[in-house]
This record gives sequence, structure tokens and C-alpha cells, in this order.
Amino acid sequence: MSRPKIAILGAGYGGIMTATRLTKELGMNEAEITLVNKHNYHYQTTWLHEPAAGTLHHDRTRMSIKDVIDTNRINFVQDTVVSIDDANKTVKLENGELTYDYLVIGLGFESETFGIPGVKDYAFNIRSVDTVRKIKEHIEYQFASYNNEDNPSEGMLNIVVAGAGFTGIEFIGEMADRIPELCADFDVPREKVRLICAEAAPTVLPGFDEELVEYAVNLLERKGVEFMLGTPIKEVTEDSVILEEEEIKADTIVWTTGIRGNSIVENSGFETMRGRIKVESDLRAPGKDHVFIVGDCALIINEEINRPYPPTAQIAIQQSFTVARNLKTLINNGKLEAFVPEIKGTVASLGKGEAIGKVGNKKLYGATASAMKKIIDNRYLYLLGGIPLVVKKGKLKLF
Ligand code: FAD
Repeated sequence: MSRPKIAILGAGYGGIMTATRLTKELGMNEAEITLVNKHNYHYQTTWLHEPAAGTLHHDRTRMSIKDVIDTNRINFVQDTVVSIDDANKTVKLENGELTYDYLVIGLGFESETFGIPGVKDYAFNIRSVDTVRKIKEHIEYQFASYNNEDNPSEGMLNIVVAGAGFTGIEFIGEMADRIPELCADFDVPREKVRLICAEAAPTVLPGFDEELVEYAVNLLERKGVEFMLGTPIKEVTEDSVILEEEEIKADTIVWTTGIRGNSIVENSGFETMRGRIKVESDLRAPGKDHVFIVGDCALIINEEINRPYPPTAQIAIQQSFTVARNLKTLINNGKLEAFVPEIKGTVASLGKGEAIGKVGNKKLYGATASAMKKIIDNRYLYLLGGIPLVVKKGKLKLF
């Protein structure tokens, strides 16, 4: 009898962890596992604010997929998913086609632009190794150009970060550290540079503890960050952001106002909310008994507050354990388990040696929170590739 085919789309946190967990759950002959990813490497999305600002080399955030999966058990295909034809259980790839009996969709997120004019054309986003390399190179180019221009443009050294959520604040924290280095390197007076955070909501890091938020804002303001809260951006142009009552000249605009699910899912006919599939409790797509969704493409509701859980790597990783167990059960005709997220805490970095967070009921600040952030990062590497991967790619200097 031929083995059932499991196709996993995307090798982010959800996809790659599902693949590795499946090799632990399933026997050698129980299924044929294929993992598809655009690149031949897996990258740590949660670290991308660092290479974006240039405070960490981008290679530290990525690792060869073949080095971390069991290639005797998992067939890795480097290709780009174009669409999913679930009626025919086929995935169209840029360079071929893939058929499946069971599908796991882990294609991650796209930046949410809310249809604001100019965002797609002129703003940078923190999405992948490629997009963050572009941000870093662009900012360095702006600094390098400054003293070589007779009339530097007004916004040449202005950096506007749209959105004061997790990604925006973590990037600002890194950038606030990087600016003095860039100024020294390129002979630019610090007062010529502006780092502005424009946010439509009246507060930064919505949902975070107020005391922690106050700590973050005070710290970042001391490092020269200008917060413009309650100021929605109406339009982005080539060299500015347009607010309700003013225009800020800026040649660097980084868009971090939230995410939606990968548009491939929506365009393939799945019912979505902002590109994310509201999954059943066992993480299957509604009405599709052979399709599981992991990570940011999955939408799950926190019943206590009747709102979606924020999309996080923490949840994506936990989901991968459930999906792997449920696939094994499904292949063996058993009863599937429900996914119950266990939110262990959240830590947001604010630059070198600084962070805020809540782990359990404990609030963490400064160096302790920053060390905790590194422990969380290392824990994921341990789950994925054991101690060798922690030694190779981990953040070993905690303080
Ligand atoms: P991803 O990890 O984004 O992976 C998706 C994969 O699919 C990628 O490998 C991508 O290349 C691949 N892919 C996409 N399209 C295609 C295609 N068409 N064909 C083939 N492959 C494709 N979460 C936390 O829990 N804690 C944090 O501290 C935290 N910090 C963050 C900091 C930043 C700067 C950002 C941006 C996010 C942060 N998050 C954090 C959120 C977290 O990174 C995401 O929730 C998580 O990455 C989702 O995992 P995923 O597996 O769904 O997608």
C-alpha cells in the first residue's frame, strides 16, 4: 500500500516545527513528508528587527533547512507556492506541482497596508531576510550620501516607523542604538537625524502592561525617539508621510502596522478574515478534514475576551506539536485533540541590553528582560535542533 502524502507549505516556525515533530510522531513507513519553502534556509522572523537596523548580521538569523531537518525522512523542495487547488489536492509551485493527501499550510504573514495609498510602493517592511537587508542597505546609503550632496533632501536622514506595535517598537529600539554608530561612521551630526514613530492609536504596544509601556517610552525617548501617537498616516509618498494635519519629510519609511495572512490562502479559495483562516479547535480549516493551518495563517479566538490571539511564534510553535499529533491520529483513524494555547509570556526588546516583558505574573525590565528574551530565542533553537543548534546560532551572551 502506498504511504499517505503529507505536504507542508512554508518552513517558518509553524511549518518546520511540524515537519520535525512529524518525524518523531510517525514511523518511517507511515507517511511521505514533503516540506516546501521559497528559500533553502529557515529564518527567525522574531529576530528580523536586528538585521533590519544593522545591529546583527542577517546570517545569524538564518540556517540551512537541510541542516536542521532529517533529510532521510523529509523531502525538502525549494520552490515558491503559487496556489492551492484543494479540490484536486494539488499545490501549484513556480517550477512544478505537488499532490497531497494531507496538507499543512504555514505560509506566514504579509504586511497589512489597510489600503493606504503609497505604502506598497514606497514603504519598507520587516518580513524576510531579503526585505530587512534592503532596509539596512538603504539606511546606510542615506548616511553615506549625506556629506556627498550639495543640497541633501529634507528627509534624507529622517526615519519614520509606522506603527508602535511589537515589531515597530523592537525595530525602533535597535535603530536608536544604531544611529549614533552610523553618525560616527559617516561624520553626520546626531541632530541631523530624526527617528519618528507614528501610531494611529493613543498608546504604544497596545495590550501591554501600562507600567512596562511607560518604561519603554521613557527609555526610547531618552535615546532620541519622537513618538507621534494618535496620528494616523493618510498617505505615503516617495519622500514623506502625510498625516491629518502635516507632512513629515522622510526618505525612509518602515511599515509595521500589523499583519494579515499570506494572500495565497485567500486567493486559493479558502474563507479568511484578513487573510487568516478561522480554524476549528483541532487546527483544521472548516469543512476540510485533511487541511491543517499553523502559525500566522491560522486565526484562533481567545474565548476569555472573544478576540483573536495575536499572531506569534510562540503560538505557531505550540500549534506544530498539536498538528503533528493530530496528523498521526488522523492517519490512524483516531479522535483529534483540541489546540489549547499556553501563553507563557511576552518580552519585547528595546535595543542592546534592554527589554520589557511579562512572564507569568512577573514583570521584567531592562537587563533581566533582555536576558529572558535571549533565553526564549535559544529555547526555540533547542526545540528545533537541540544543543548543537543553540551553540551554532544561539545568543549565548545573556548580559
Ligand atoms: P513565518 O515564520 O513567517 O514563516 C513562513 C515561511 O513561509 C517562511 O519561511 C517563508 O519564506 C515561507 N513562504 C512564504 N510564502 C511562500 C511561498 N509562496 N512559497 C514558499 N514558501 C513561502 N512572535 C513571538 O512569539 N515572540 C516575539 O518576540 C516576536 N517578535 C517578532 C519580531 C518581529 C520583528 C516580527 C516581524 C515578528 C515577531 N513575532 C514574534 C511574530 C512571529 O515572528 C510570527 O508570528 C511567526 O513568524 C509566525 O510563524 P509562521 O510559521 O506562521 O510564519
